[in-house]
Amino acid sequence: AIPLVVAINTSLAAGNGMLIRDRTAMERARGLDTIVFDKTGTLTEGEHGVVGVGTTDAIGESEAVALAAAVEGDSEHVIARAVREAAADRDLTVPETRDFEAIKGRGVRGTVDGETVHVGGPNLLTQLDTAVPDDLRAFADEAGANAQTVVYLLRGGEPVAAFALADVIRPESYRVVDALHGLGIEVAMLTGDAADVADAVADELGIDTVFAEVLPEDKDRHVAGLQEAGKLVGMVGDGVNDAPALARADVGIAIGSGTDVAVQSADIVLVQNNPMDVARLVALSRASYRKMQ
Ligand code: ADP
Ligand code: MG
Repeated sequence: AIPLVVAINTSLAAGNGMLIRDRTAMERARGLDTIVFDKTGTLTEGEHGVVGVGTTDAIGESEAVALAAAVEGDSEHVIARAVREAAADRDLTVPETRDFEAIKGRGVRGTVDGETVHVGGPNLLTQLDTAVPDDLRAFADEAGANAQTVVYLLRGGEPVAAFALADVIRPESYRVVDALHGLGIEVAMLTGDAADVADAVADELGIDTVFAEVLPEDKDRHVAGLQEAGKLVGMVGDGVNDAPALARADVGIAIGSGTDVAVQSADIVLVQNNPMDVARLVALSRASYRKMQ
């Protein structure tokens, strides 16, 4: 039989827009001392728009956008959608791409007119053993300082252009960090995005610890590292790449509008996509179990 306290909690939680997939997680939530948030799609809306294009002497702006949209043609990533929209907004003709390949946590590649073309972030540049060229440095630094995500267009393995993408921080993200601090909980952020973007968002929100440029296969290791240091860890995420970390955490919490894989890996689902519900969840768990003891 389900203990009475658990049944009461489950229905209370449901009334607050939380779907409990693992009942014992509601009890564990009262002991959480560290909560780790994914950035894109969790603390932010995850709906990017291209707000700037930086080019080198090797390419013009329109050609850069069209080429990037070509290799992003088959990607499901929010960045890909934004790049395709930028090409559509400019009425550009997008060339044909062959041999499309998604490179998880890094970017995409394809062949256009017999040439290898990539679009991706800093993790991709590292993998291809190349660096941001001098003529894109100022563009990238300014975008990063403004919390904009930067991805690069590479032709023949060389970066030739860069795109700045703006995302919007969810208004509730500001409140949840304060609320969790008020409950004595440390707040961390875990993201595949570049360190300067991650730091800008963390500064804005008052987040204590940042793990940036983390590859999808390493996200759960950061959660495990905190657990090994004696922390009881809650993880909040929305993406396929968050699933192992959600499963690893003591309490895994998925954003309701997130991917199916994230929702299935979580103990609790925030139906209203409201990060503030994370603080409500801990407060509810503490209040309920205190009363019943
Ligand atoms: P996040 O933790 O920000 O949700 P992902 O693991 O999905 O991150 O992606 C990490 C980084 O890899 C992105 O910030 C971007 O730099 C790069 N990336 C991933 N997919 C793409 C893509 N389709 N186009 C361009 N860059 C991409
Ligand atoms: Mg995400």
